[in-house]
Amino acid sequence: MAYNDSNIFAKILRGEAPCVKVYEDDATLSFMDVMPQAEGHTLIIPKVAAEFIFDMTPDDYAALAKTTQKIAAAVKQAIGSPGLMIAQLNGAEAGQTVFHIHNHVIPRWDGIDMKLHARQLADIKVLEEQAARIRAAL
Ligand code: 5GP
Repeated sequence: MAYNDSNIFAKILRGEAPCVKVYEDDATLSFMDVMPQAEGHTLIIPKVAAEFIFDMTPDDYAALAKTTQKIAAAVKQAIGSPGLMIAQLNGAEAGQTVFHIHNHVIPRWDGIDMKLHARQLADIKVLEEQAARIRAAL
């Protein structure tokens, strides 16, 4: 399947759709998931047009991993979760719904289940407040 640049993350990268931004560099962008599965659920995407891990060069993937590690540390500190999950879904069969590769950073607590995937829109003011705390922890 060829990369389709009408996906929502491509639109966010082009500035055609909004996002609650956490971090940006030459190769990557990080923003709050608009339908979070837990408080502080953050996404990291590469700027290259790639659907899956298989479509990326090792250098581009390394940039995604580097930003993911940085964001994970900031999210854990800012949100104060004892656990943290990092997920990447490749293919609809794996549950992928947006076909521009991305990593999920999801805080986890003992005894608190994650919410369902991509179901319930969050209050943008709450996401803005969380993003500000995460940015301050970077
Ligand atoms: P996937 O299922 O592809 O691994 O994850 C896509 C993620 O993108 C989901 O967690 C979903 O909540 C999130 N998402 C979908 N549309 C938007 C959007 O317009 N803005 C943001 N910030 N996140 C989105």
